[in-house]
Amino acid sequence: MRDRLDRASHEYYILDKPSLSDAEYDRLFRELQAIEREHPELLSPDSPTQRVGTAPVSALPKHTHRSPMLSLGNAFSDDELKEWEERLVRIAGEEVRRAGYSAELKIDGAAVSLLYEDGILVTGATRGNGTVGEDVTPNIRTVRDVPLRLRGTDVPARIEIRGEIYYPFDLFERMNEERVRSGEPVFANPRNAAAGALRQLDPAITAQRPLRFFGYTVMPAPGERLGFTTQTQVLEALQSWGVPVAPHRQRCDSLTDVAAWAHRVEHTVRGELNFAIDGGVVKIDELALQDDLGVVGGREPRWAIARKFAPDIAETQLLEIRVNVGRTGALNPYAVLEPVEIGGTTVTFATLHNEDLIIAKDLRIGDTVQVKRAGEVIPQVIGPIPEKRTGSEVIWRMPRECPACGTPVVRDEEEVAWYCTNVQCAGRRLEGLVHFANRDAMDIRGLSYARIEQLVDAGLVSNFADLYTLTVEQVLTLDRFAEKSAQQLIDAIAASKAQPLSRLLFGLGIRHVGAGAAELLARHFGDLDKLREASEEEIAAVHGIGETIAHSVKSWFESTGAAKLIDDLRVSQVTFTEPQPEVTSGALKGLTVVITGTLPTLSRSDAASLLEGAGARVTDSVSKKTSFLVAGEAAGSKLEKARSLGVEVIDEAELLRRTGRHA
Ligand code: NAD
Repeated sequence: MRDRLDRASHEYYILDKPSLSDAEYDRLFRELQAIEREHPELLSPDSPTQRVGTAPVSALPKHTHRSPMLSLGNAFSDDELKEWEERLVRIAGEEVRRAGYSAELKIDGAAVSLLYEDGILVTGATRGNGTVGEDVTPNIRTVRDVPLRLRGTDVPARIEIRGEIYYPFDLFERMNEERVRSGEPVFANPRNAAAGALRQLDPAITAQRPLRFFGYTVMPAPGERLGFTTQTQVLEALQSWGVPVAPHRQRCDSLTDVAAWAHRVEHTVRGELNFAIDGGVVKIDELALQDDLGVVGGREPRWAIARKFAPDIAETQLLEIRVNVGRTGALNPYAVLEPVEIGGTTVTFATLHNEDLIIAKDLRIGDTVQVKRAGEVIPQVIGPIPEKRTGSEVIWRMPRECPACGTPVVRDEEEVAWYCTNVQCAGRRLEGLVHFANRDAMDIRGLSYARIEQLVDAGLVSNFADLYTLTVEQVLTLDRFAEKSAQQLIDAIAASKAQPLSRLLFGLGIRHVGAGAAELLARHFGDLDKLREASEEEIAAVHGIGETIAHSVKSWFESTGAAKLIDDLRVSQVTFTEPQPEVTSGALKGLTVVITGTLPTLSRSDAASLLEGAGARVTDSVSKKTSFLVAGEAAGSKLEKARSLGVEVIDEAELLRRTGRHA
């Protein structure tokens, strides 16, 4: 067991490539602790239970810590937390219960020590084995929120700040996507990516990784004392010096409060964070009492404990990879898993994003895989555990034909997704109808996923137009419908005919046309037929639209089935027009205006709204037809073009005057 744990630690701390999950590691670690407790004769100083981390082996300069950087004991339940408190009471008496606790998020990153002299950052080091770490000062300097200089007049002349370097989730995912695109291997998790980036020999590489920092404690210089009496004060001081401190910390008067806090963090807060935590850290708030309680076995402080959460990562088998056709025709691969429990729910499916990621992770059907469920996010397959392969695993590739309709699939060069181009594809039908009925699109009340599935399965509906010819009698033939509910559904569908063009356009599910673009197009053209007749250039010239959307809109109208669909919708009297916003002064009615450069106070979209409110049309390119150009700072080619064509150029002040905002 010691060998297995040692190997795991080496992989985790030195190679940044763990082969065990943290939960598995923790379980083994506890088992070893239990054996050693029962058989003290087996205990040896080189046991992993007696050490912190692993000694550094890299080419980075070594750094000896002034006082050891410790690990933490673990409590996996409220009961274990209580046992911890009882142990402390036995040692230090009832005072423990009166001191209160500081409850903090346990950031799952890499521990660092930062030395400041006269408020200036002089050294940054990793924890290493707790005694000796690596000097990574140039790398630490690239971390944006590590202050290079502490703020305030009360900063001690020499002080050490300890905290955690981490990688935010969103930036981590973006980096992994970029690595996929450039053919590099992806990182297993943000912790490994942060630790790896921190220990780069070349700080230029660290600088490319957007690492972040949270501080959680301070250590006085040898022989000096700091004026704080509680951990809560320490965290407040850190914040006042400009050091980021993790959110959601709480001073708790009792262990009952701590348990309630931990419950909230595990079940609500964790899902909302943009960084990984692996639990909470509970500390006796009183610093004097911390000193009295001291350290156990040279490894962990007695006065603090990690309250670990149920792991949100589990291991299971990848049984199958299936492909689902999205409403825009995008083919989405997903994993069918041997059902596994993660954080209290059973997970059977997980997203696999796209073919490139499957290849980059080298996922094979039959693999033992790690699956993660982060908060409310759809479960994700982190990657395979290659050591657990038997040789019967099968490599998977995206089918070259749409699994729903057999149309050959296509892929644009700059995109990772494959698409089925058939607008009438049966696979798109369901997702497409669900989107069409969605609250932000046609908002058809009561037309739920299950009901759409029923309608499609019964052959009553296969496209948007079919909805409008449905009758109460037809709906009544379906299960779970009575006279009243059938009538309500038909009424809701009929009511949706009055939705403005912007919602219809969004509901049609044209690639790249989100709710915002749909609104811009609807407002600009005012009528579906005008949009249909417009050229790609005319569409692209609409302010905020651009070539990609224009191309996609044009291709949609030209695709097979589109003309018939539009005719059918027209026959059913679905609204094809957009009510135009009320023109406040109408002063600019009929004028065409272009905005360029940075305006002193208005954003581009605010300026556009003002202009449109006054009746003008805002477009993106300057031509002879442009009435005037509003130019701000750093205006470039549009300004030159306007001048060469003799188009009038005005500034923001004049714009405000013409739209009636200023005298
Ligand atoms: P730890 O991570 O359980 O706890 C100590 C660390 O918590 C400190 O070094 C500190 O950096 C960090 N921390 C985060 N927020 C904090 C806060 N608010 N206050 C104080 N400290 C805070 O202990 P460890 O010794 O770093 O690592 C042990 C853990 O690492 C194991 O429990 C396991 O989960 C994982 N591990 C996994 C493997 C593997 O193979 N998967 C191998 C080794 C270790």
